[in-house]
Amino acid sequence: MNRYADQVAVITGAGRGIGRAIALRLAAEGARVAVISRTAVNAQIVAEELTKQYSQQALPYSVDVADGDAVANLCSKIVKDFGTISVLVNNAGITRDRLSMRMSGEDWDRVLDTNLKGAFHFVQHLQRHMMRNSYGRIVNISSVSGLLGQAGQVNYSASKAGLIGLTKALAREVSGRNVTVNAVAPGFIQTDMTQNLPESVKADVLKLIPLERFGDCEDVAAAVAFIASPEAKYITGQVIKVDGGMAM
Ligand code: NDP
Repeated sequence: MNRYADQVAVITGAGRGIGRAIALRLAAEGARVAVISRTAVNAQIVAEELTKQYSQQALPYSVDVADGDAVANLCSKIVKDFGTISVLVNNAGITRDRLSMRMSGEDWDRVLDTNLKGAFHFVQHLQRHMMRNSYGRIVNISSVSGLLGQAGQVNYSASKAGLIGLTKALAREVSGRNVTVNAVAPGFIQTDMTQNLPESVKADVLKLIPLERFGDCEDVAAAVAFIASPEAKYITGQVIKVDGGMAM
């Protein structure tokens, strides 16, 4: 399939984990990719991997998505470098888990500023471009934690629930210009983010998953590759769960 021929995808948090898998998947289907991460070297490695494997333009960028001014400058640069933008995947995210009574204001702010406001920053600058082109796909990576709530994650769950609200409101704002906005809510996916959780926690989570396994980054990438493709043209404002049935 070459669903992304002639398309440019901007993917945040693409230096590792789920974001990297999304970058690889979209590039495999023909996309040119702006690979964004916080750490320059991670973006560099993935961009080189994409160029080598798929011989398509892939450029690395590093930014703190929570920094609005830096994101504004970066978006201008990306538009200049690629000429057009058709897909935005807001995937960058962090956790700072702690029970709410012990959570610092700083941990609350950092998670909300990265996971929720970071997405807003990219949306604000790139939606204009999509609307002008009368085509766009925006995908926000939420989480089942945003749907179900997770003890120890009031900041993270709030940020991911907030992304769902952002998704639905924005979907209504931009629908007239052929721009769709959807959220993908992964369950438990094996990445750096989850690998250090205690084994007892992992065993408890596994019991809640009807498909009896944790997800892979590629499981999420496959869902994003569909929802961000031209053929998903009649789907907007939705939350697609990729969770092995955990939150059904
Ligand atoms: P990882 O921790 O493996 O990777 C996170 C990525 O986000 C990295 O590339 C990192 O950059 C980037 N990032 C983090 N903070 C910032 C920032 N301030 N500015 C720019 N980039 C930043 O996470 P996952 O791959 O597991 O998660 C990806 C997304 O999926 C997140 O939004 C997460 O909340 C969500 N998710 C994950 C689940 C899971 O089970 N793993 C479940 C549900 C949702 P760098 O490489 O430079 O550090």
